[in-house]
Amino acid sequence: KPVIVAIDGPSGTGKSSTSKAVAAQLGLSYLDTGAQYRAITWWMVSNGIDIEDPTAIAAVAAKPEIISGTDPANPTISVDGTDVAGPIRTQEVTSKVSAVSAVPEVRARITELQRTLATSAEYGIVVEGRDIGTTVLPDADLKIFLTASPEARAARRSGELKGADVNATREALIKRDAADSSRKTSPLAKAGDAVEVDTTALTLPQVIECVVTLVEE
Ligand code: C5P
Repeated sequence: KPVIVAIDGPSGTGKSSTSKAVAAQLGLSYLDTGAQYRAITWWMVSNGIDIEDPTAIAAVAAKPEIISGTDPANPTISVDGTDVAGPIRTQEVTSKVSAVSAVPEVRARITELQRTLATSAEYGIVVEGRDIGTTVLPDADLKIFLTASPEARAARRSGELKGADVNATREALIKRDAADSSRKTSPLAKAGDAVEVDTTALTLPQVIECVVTLVEE
């Protein structure tokens, strides 16, 4: 039976690196759900949709065709046939993604894509996000909730963004987590049956080993 692993948590906890490595090590597929929300946000921005207007966002939420490649060695994301792996990581998209992903019609659309991919993975899948264990795949075989101190998360993010100001990164990150945690539909939350792993004092290889061990148990 294919194994389904849900990995949730705020940004900067090492979710993506961990999920990708665990999937590769165990021969499973990998899905970055944040990339899907970023992709639909990129499309909204590119098409001049007013991000402050949830009604306008809801009206076009079904339009873009979003395709995720689930090979952990080469995860891809495209919108209407265009590779958007680069453009979805800009500061503009990052600052707008929480508002777009709070719209219920957007979540319904993306959640459906996620469930289709998860149930069609031949050997199983590692799905990372914010609401995978609580809402998208409540029957997942294993649920992990990754945490880390705000300082550790900001430091990791600034490291990734090379040269970005740590304080500005920290403020933006805290703001995005607060928005993700307070939205009405499927907020960032730990599922009751999730295993919490605090990564503050752990190296990436240690976190990966910890999760692999939990999957194999
Ligand atoms: O994981 P990443 O930082 O790329 O996610 C970008 C944004 O997408 C999050 O800040 C959140 O607003 C949204 N998101 C979500 N639900 C998920 C994954 C991401 O709302 N399952």
